[in-house]
Amino acid sequence: MTSRLFDLTGKTALVTGSARGLGNGYARGLADAGAKVVLNDLNEEALTHAVETLRAGGFEAEGIRFDVSKEESVVSAFEKMDASGIAIDILINNAGIQHRQPIIELSAADWQRVIDTNLTAAFLVGREAAKRMIKRGAGGKIINIGSLTSELARATTAPYTTAKGGIKMLTKAMTAEWAEHGIQVNAIGPGYMLTEMTQPLADDPKFDGWVKGRTPARRWGLPEDLIGTAVFLASSASDYVNGQIIYVDGGMISVL
Ligand code: NDP
Repeated sequence: MTSRLFDLTGKTALVTGSARGLGNGYARGLADAGAKVVLNDLNEEALTHAVETLRAGGFEAEGIRFDVSKEESVVSAFEKMDASGIAIDILINNAGIQHRQPIIELSAADWQRVIDTNLTAAFLVGREAAKRMIKRGAGGKIINIGSLTSELARATTAPYTTAKGGIKMLTKAMTAEWAEHGIQVNAIGPGYMLTEMTQPLADDPKFDGWVKGRTPARRWGLPEDLIGTAVFLASSASDYVNGQIIYVDGGMISVL
């Protein structure tokens, strides 16, 4: 009984930005729990490699290249999935970018690019997925990816912080409209996790020391640290969990 609560057999999950990094970890975790996974990325070559790697591991995987930040690209990707009979039960809005610069030096173009990729994309991909989930009438799961910056600011990351704060409220806004359709929308807020995005920070002894000192668990998180929460939020174990953001951060957001 308990193990079936977390079983994703028969479900199809789309994870955006999943050729590498945390997205790839979520995809592997959901596949390991039984889901067929649809990987997405901008980089076609990396995407093909990630799909082949999952298939070689015995998992069912497909790949679809599209730009999550562009409406026409998202809409046409969903039309392509419709045409190939791919119906998404679980969506993880993971793709994201960072841009570090003080606000007084920041261009409107860089601000917009970060907002579009980290926030507008979750609206666009979420909208297309939910439209179809509602039409099918079988419910669904949407997991948005926030950050500790959904709650707290850090100098030089204003557009990212603003977008991730928005993710927290978009998760609630989606809940307000879609919970009655059996769609649970929740978010994960990872702490400092080791990926290509954060490798330059981990390579800086001062920053690395700050992360380890500031995190009660005294270490960086790893992609596999997020899988349990992702599977929980993707499975029927969370069928009455709505509009929450769960921080998976080694305790960082809980302490001063
Ligand atoms: P990475 O930079 O390692 O991976 C991000 C992935 O998103 C890449 O595969 C990238 O593709 C893809 N991507 C970027 N832009 C687009 C786009 N427009 N369309 C489709 N795919 C795109 O990041 P992480 O794995 O570290 O982060 C993943 C998510 O987790 C992000 O939302 C991030 O904000 C969040 N997060 C990460 C934390 C961390 O410590 N690492 C902490 C808190 C939150 P490509 O290879 O083509 O560039």
